[in-house]
Order: sequence, then structure tokens, then C-alpha cells
Amino acid sequence: MISTAILEQLKKEETPLYYYDLPLLRATISAAKAAADQWGFHIHYAVKANNNPRILQEISTLGLGADCVSGLEIETAIAHGFQAKSIVFAGVGKTEKEIRVALSQGILAFNVESLEELQVIDAIAREMETHASVALRINPNIDANTHHYITTGLDENKFGIMMHELEDCLTLIHSNESALALVGLHFHVGSQITDWTVFKRLCLKVNEWNTWFIERGIVVPILNVGGGVGINYKNPDGEAIVDFANFFALFHRFLEPKPGQQVHFELGRSLVANCGSLISRVLYIKKGVNKNFAILDAGMTELLRPALYQAYHQIQRLEQGELPVEATEKYEVVGPICESSDCFGKNVELPVLVRGELVAIRSAGAYGEVMSSRYNLRQPLQFYFEE
Ligand SMILES: *Cc1c(COP(=O)(O)O)cnc(C)c1O
Repeated sequence: MISTAILEQLKKEETPLYYYDLPLLRATISAAKAAADQWGFHIHYAVKANNNPRILQEISTLGLGADCVSGLEIETAIAHGFQAKSIVFAGVGKTEKEIRVALSQGILAFNVESLEELQVIDAIAREMETHASVALRINPNIDANTHHYITTGLDENKFGIMMHELEDCLTLIHSNESALALVGLHFHVGSQITDWTVFKRLCLKVNEWNTWFIERGIVVPILNVGGGVGINYKNPDGEAIVDFANFFALFHRFLEPKPGQQVHFELGRSLVANCGSLISRVLYIKKGVNKNFAILDAGMTELLRPALYQAYHQIQRLEQGELPVEATEKYEVVGPICESSDCFGKNVELPVLVRGELVAIRSAGAYGEVMSSRYNLRQPLQFYFEE
């Protein structure tokens, strides 16, 4: 919630502006960390969700590792306080340059997604006369009734090792000249998952795969179960922080790591989404034939999620108390960009808006700022950090 005092500050600022509530960020990270610590679990923050330097600094200070998807994310994470040996590096398309960056920094593990990638990492590591720690990304999206490595469906997904390549991956890793060390198995089911039975099913799959490897004499030190915890976009104030205690307790209950095996998580959205709001001014109210448009000075260039996948974000009028509560109106809330998809919400019921007022588009801390663009030669983003 944005206080009246802060609203007075925001009124003086140029908009659109990203507002970050750092106390809420710290409370969220601390809650997640404490809940994970209870079971000895490790969290890597998925930097792709938000790479704002202030946010990275806060998260690294609180002792989380990082999950990166590019060489520049690795370097940025390290520059903002993350330990190289706490970094995992994921992505289906790692370039040679990025692999060299990761190897010279000495990261915890590459999450490897194909046989050819494994071969390239091995070749570069040998050339650099070093070792590469790798985790194999396994796609857990499989029918529980089917045997795990003869399943259709897997081959159509670009993520993860193709099952017919798995034996060749293991042969390469265990060959005499190999510079590879298999340190983990990696899984990631998707994003914005609010049905937690998915995570229970994931645990059972991870157990099966762990057993499959153990039967082949391989006990990997790390079981990395990825991220994807959903947040409540409908109720950012009522449920500001995900119930991390229950989330990690679920993994403690259903996951069966063997002695010496560590459990790692890669959380993005659930750590940063609610600490951010996009603050925008109402530029114009336009009466349409059947509806009213509220035209904002923020658009899809500042927050792409609604235009990209019709994502819901709560929209609030920030000024409170001047109007009777019943004085509401339904708006189509749109941005100024020359695209019809530049719309934050249709049929949004709000207190009657007038030109010049501020609105907040909530839960914009994850996949918001990072996806912004300069399309239409938009102004650089403005920021306001609540300390
Ligand atoms: C994006 C991503 C994450 C983070 O996902 P969230 O839904 O933001 O928690 C974790 N791991 C991998 C491999 C990812 O691609």
C-alpha cells in the first residue's frame, strides 16, 4: 500500500515511474529465506524477473544465490554482490562467450539443456584448462503412468535434455578426458503456478529421476527444483507475501533427497512481484460510444505483460477519500502507444478519474521493468525507492 505521505512525494515526480517498496522486498526475501533455512534448502534468485541494481543489492545482501540466463546477468549479479559460487546458469541458447564468462567466474553450475551444449561446455572448459560443473535439466512434464524416458511430448519442448540424448550425456560426462563434473539434476515446471499440487507432482517426479540416477551409481549433490511459485495478482495488499513456510514444507514433505543431497530453488516472481508498482498519470478521459477510456502516460513500453499475455494487474486510483465510494465508473485503461494491444484492463471499475491523477498498476515488480522498451522513443524509466 502506498501511504499518503509517499503519494505526496510521488505527485511531484515525473511519470511513468517504477515505485519499489524496499521494506516489502526485504520482508519477502527474509520470509522466503527463513522458511527455506528451516529445511536447509537453498534459494537462487531468478535475476531475469528484475535486474534493477537496487533490487539485486538488497537480495544479495540477504544471502540468496542467483539464477542467471545470460552472461551479462552473471556479471551483473556478481557486480551487485552475489557470490559467483552461488550462481546457476540456465537457458537453451548459451553462447560460447557466455560459457567462457561463466567458467572464468567459477559459477556453481550450468543447467545444461542439450547434448551439443554439453559438448561445447566440455570443449571450452578443456581449452581453458578448468572444470565445468553441470546439472542436467530434465523435463518433468511427463505422464506419471508412463515410463520416464520413453514418453512422447517431451520431444516437442525446447527445454531440457531430450531423453534419447541422456545416455550420451552421461557417457560424455564420465569419459576420461571430460572436463565436466555432474553436480545436479535440474527441473523447472513453469511460471505463475498457483495450484500447488503441481509442486507435489514435481517432487514425486524428482524422486523417480533421482532413483533412476542412483540405480546407475550416480548420486548428484544438488537437486534443483526450479521456481514458478505464483503470486496473487488480485489481492496484492491482502496477500503481499507468498506463504513460503507452506511452500517449502511441501517440498520437505514430498521430496526425498538422499543423505548429502542439497535441495535448491530458483525463485523469481514470488520474491519481487509485489514490491513494485508502475505509477502513471491519467492523461485524458475519453468518452467512447459504449465505454470510457482512461488514457495513461504509461503503456506497454513500461509494462508489457498485459499486452503480451493478457496478464491481469490490479489498477488503483491513488488519491483516496475525496469522492464518495459509490462514485465509480468503468474504464478501459489504456496506454499512449500506437498499438491496440496497449491496454492494461477492460471494464476496470475505479473511482471517477480526472486528468492529472495518479494511478498505480500493482504487482509490477517481476517481469515489468526488465521487459520495458524504448518503442515509440519513450522516455527512460523513472524510479522511486521507498527506503
Ligand atoms: C524463469 C525461470 C525461473 C523463475 O521463474 P519464476 O516463475 O519467476 O519463479 C526459474 N528457473 C528457470 C529455469 C527459469 O527459466
